[in-house]
Amino acid sequence: MKIVFASGNKGKLREAAEIFEGFEIVPISAFPAWTAPDENGSTFLQNAVIKAEAAAKAAEGQIVLADDSGLVVPALNGAPGIFSARFSAEGTDAANRKKLLAELSGAGDRSAYFLCTAVLIFPDKTVIAAEGRCCGKIIGTERGENGFGYDPVFVPDGYEKTLAELSEGEKNAISHRGKAFRKLISRAVDLAVITE
Ligand code: IMP
Repeated sequence: MKIVFASGNKGKLREAAEIFEGFEIVPISAFPAWTAPDENGSTFLQNAVIKAEAAAKAAEGQIVLADDSGLVVPALNGAPGIFSARFSAEGTDAANRKKLLAELSGAGDRSAYFLCTAVLIFPDKTVIAAEGRCCGKIIGTERGENGFGYDPVFVPDGYEKTLAELSEGEKNAISHRGKAFRKLISRAVDLAVITE
């Protein structure tokens, strides 16, 4: 079964292909009618729905998946939150991590969590949403080459390694995105809108 993923993020696409094992994950960039929408919502859910609806228009008749995700740091009053991808002026993963470490230097509380809100839209307009969290802490220096985004500075609770030092399978087993996507699959199966 084909699922169109409303993301151009290569890291997310790789993870989605592994988590939605047995499904064919197709990037929305394969549909010429698609243009990236303005992510102007004020919550992860609103932004996920904005992406999913824009993709559903461009990929009519297909099952569409979208997620909005980010890092929430209580010591920074919840930042970067929904602005995780555009935290620094440059907006690159490396510059975002550098800004995060600078803002947390000297902070006593380095706890943080990733949050992912994921949405599936079906051709009959059925919408399913699910949320996943991954709690941990931000370390002072980057470690690891895998993953993307803030992975090299994030150590999940119960682990010594950063997410970037874990294999993709190990990350997906505990990650916010893995949890949200697996919930979506089981809800879709329960509703009989997809079969596993
Ligand atoms: P989105 O594509 O608008 O959902 O923005 C997601 C941003 O949040 C990414 O660009 C990363 O900065 C961050 N992010 C989300 N999920 C992860 C993850 O699994 N690892 C590291 N960073 C993540």
